[in-house]
Amino acid sequence: MIYADNAATTKMSDTAIRTMYSLMNECWGNPSSLYTHGQKAKEILEEAREDIAAVIGANPREIYFTSGGSEADNQAILTAAAIGKKKGKRHIVSSAFEHHAVLHTLEKLKKEDFEITLVDVHENGLIRPEEVEAAIREDTCLVTIMYANNEIGTIQPIPEIGAVCRKKNVLFHVDAVQAVGHIPVHVNLDCIDLLSASGHKFHGPKGVGFLYARKGIPLTNLIEGGAQERGKRAGTENVPGIAAMAAALKEANRSMSEDAARQTRMRDMLIEGLSQIPHSALNGDVKHRLPGNVSFCFEGIEGESLLLLLDDKGICASSGSACTSGSLDPSHVLLAIGRVHDVAHGSLRLSIGADITEEEVCYIIRSVKEVVAYLRGFSPIWRDLMSGKKEFIL
Ligand SMILES: *Cc1c(COP(=O)(O)O)cnc(C)c1O
Repeated sequence: MIYADNAATTKMSDTAIRTMYSLMNECWGNPSSLYTHGQKAKEILEEAREDIAAVIGANPREIYFTSGGSEADNQAILTAAAIGKKKGKRHIVSSAFEHHAVLHTLEKLKKEDFEITLVDVHENGLIRPEEVEAAIREDTCLVTIMYANNEIGTIQPIPEIGAVCRKKNVLFHVDAVQAVGHIPVHVNLDCIDLLSASGHKFHGPKGVGFLYARKGIPLTNLIEGGAQERGKRAGTENVPGIAAMAAALKEANRSMSEDAARQTRMRDMLIEGLSQIPHSALNGDVKHRLPGNVSFCFEGIEGESLLLLLDDKGICASSGSACTSGSLDPSHVLLAIGRVHDVAHGSLRLSIGADITEEEVCYIIRSVKEVVAYLRGFSPIWRDLMSGKKEFIL
């Protein structure tokens, strides 16, 4: 099996598995308990907090553990909204290709009389800082923009957008779920006030993530209960999961530049190979993209059939985000960069890991070429395109 869906989830690293296993065996106490067995768990928890904080340039007291990226996104946005509401500021700036954890939270706020401005993501999948600046108003309480897009892999000019927010004195939240552990992220250099990350996107366990909240930002609770996480996130901490996440992040951070260089080489081979398919197009900017992301549209085919046939060939890929698969609507991300419905339906996302081999890359290219040609062979849309009844877009 070739796993090329790392944007959906990653395999836990051996270090993360070992950390989790040993803690489940040996350190299963409640970190809120006062006896030594509990306090040992508390120490592990605080060590994880320090390790994670160090990777993103934060203070450990600014890290709050959550159940994952979605919870962190929800809490960050609802926090900024609550702060804004108190000051009579009910306007939020975001983009149309954010993750649904962000977009659906913004939809909810709309029903509470918040106004949302979505800045353009342009054809190359990049947001322009000057357009963010132009969208900020007197009553703007939050700018929320993702670091790297989960479908097309484009990396946003976060330091520049952060500088704009700082200048305008507006809170800046970044969904950095696809970035943390893969590319350098630094909350101070990037002027980030709130940041979301998730363990299972960097070879840690699922169901655990963290929210960074700059010192002085009063977090809104999503979950009421005990005083865990300095009273901001109730519930007994998932100590083995959190420690495994920290171990995975430390490891990913250590080998980041080496992994990224290798992935970039493999990614570019894939892009070059797939570009040879007629009437195809890369989604998102060639340069400003995640080292592991390849996203294409092929005219005249259905992404779903492509995925099923690739699965038969032992290749795990995706047509966009895991969240949209199963629904017939084309990806909101591809529509946001201006792909029309027909074209957006024929999409393929390959998100490769650092361990992919050159042979595997060649096998993927060969397989995609074969499957696309095969599917086009009996596609009515392709027939119309070939007979001139319909015009090619790509
Ligand atoms: C995966 C993902 C999330 C959700 O994270 P979970 O830990 O699965 O809740 C949020 N944002 C982005 C960009 C993602 O890729």
